[in-house]
Amino acid sequence: MLVKGEIQSTDIVDELLENVTQRDAEIGAFLSIDAVAIRAAAAKADLSLPLGGIPIAMKDNINVLGDPCTCGSKFLAENYHSPYDAGVTRRLRSAGVVFFGRTNMDEFAMGSATENSALQRTNNPAALGHIPGGSSGGSAAAVAAHFSPAAIGSDTGGSIRQPASHCGVVGLKPSYGRVSRYGLVAFASSLDQIGPLSRTVEDAAIILQAIAGHDPLDSTSLPLPVPNYLTNLHQGVKGLRIGIPKEYFAAGLASVVREAVEKEIVRLQEQGAIPVEISLPHTEYAVATYYIIAPAEASSNLSRFDGVRYGHRAANPADILSLYQRSREEGFGPEVKRRIILGTYVLSSGYYDAYYNKAQKVRTLIRKDFENAFAFCDAIISPVAPTAARKIGECTDPVQDYLADVCTIPVNLAGLPAISVPLPSDGLPIGLQIITPHLQESLLLQIAQAVENR
Ligand code: GLN
Repeated sequence: MLVKGEIQSTDIVDELLENVTQRDAEIGAFLSIDAVAIRAAAAKADLSLPLGGIPIAMKDNINVLGDPCTCGSKFLAENYHSPYDAGVTRRLRSAGVVFFGRTNMDEFAMGSATENSALQRTNNPAALGHIPGGSSGGSAAAVAAHFSPAAIGSDTGGSIRQPASHCGVVGLKPSYGRVSRYGLVAFASSLDQIGPLSRTVEDAAIILQAIAGHDPLDSTSLPLPVPNYLTNLHQGVKGLRIGIPKEYFAAGLASVVREAVEKEIVRLQEQGAIPVEISLPHTEYAVATYYIIAPAEASSNLSRFDGVRYGHRAANPADILSLYQRSREEGFGPEVKRRIILGTYVLSSGYYDAYYNKAQKVRTLIRKDFENAFAFCDAIISPVAPTAARKIGECTDPVQDYLADVCTIPVNLAGLPAISVPLPSDGLPIGLQIITPHLQESLLLQIAQAVENR
């Protein structure tokens, strides 16, 4: 409609901004949204570009020149404005996107309920009073609430897929190295990856097309050509071998989730897919491995928040050490402190070999599990989360939430692409996870499209 001139980008953003005004007070998806700047950008959008005039919301840990970038933290909420565009931002900007607000998140992306945001609560638009998932909870909520047709998130251990699953939208984590991490505020650099949340699989494919590709400013970005992600989208699943990992259907999986996933396996089989049982034998060690590697990397990455260079700075420090200590004490929330302490511990001399080195070895075993499994199947399907979205405030033990990431974390440890696609559900939304070999996003999207088609 935009291209045909039947509607203007300003009409779209006006309607969306009206939705935000009406409902974001109760949902809390956005940390900031600058209506004046959005209208101005929409008015001069170049509609000849691939995403010309299309609004997209950004998770608040991705730099957009001049915008706030709080990471859901008090540390950056006071006075930080991005002095540059992230790699993804640059690509979206040159594709003509209208940046549509900054979405809430767990502080520095550490969490899976958005309850670790130091700045505000976010409700699940599908069920107020329930968590939207996290850490990209604001991005998922913004899409589910029809505030924005799509949003960008980041995924270190499930932070795109799990909130997508909980809110009933599509969420894609690309292969490690497929999308630039330059300008994404680093949590765990060997695991972090940026990706889209959207209402349809096709939209996810279109946005991936825009953001994928080599960026010399990210040394882990792969210098490889990007295929056309729309070409095979409607090829169906006939003849594809779909691996069902038995370890992902263990005790603790809610019966509604199990039934929804099992029904979908039958439906895919009716369309010609061939289900095969597979084993990922090191799954039981994945969460423990992640909670050594991710905090270790976080403790290093977050050392840059020292009260000197970015954000919060303690008042009247007695000396340089007290400036560091008090700025960090005042600026970081409890979960971030817990991770920094854990990470510093596992990296410290005397414990490095026992924990960090051991975890790296187990990570290799987990990656090999997937390699072995892909000898028997083309893709793997599983639940995203063992339950639907719990209520806000219901979880007091962080380890409970850590364990719930058991189906998403192994994928980050292995660097693979994966997607969450909504399944039919009478109650709270439930997502299906699809995982493919490294760089096989086309196949991933093709299967996801078959799941979406009803
Ligand atoms: N829930 C996981 C954690 O707390 C993953 C978060 C993420 O992917 N950013 O670390």
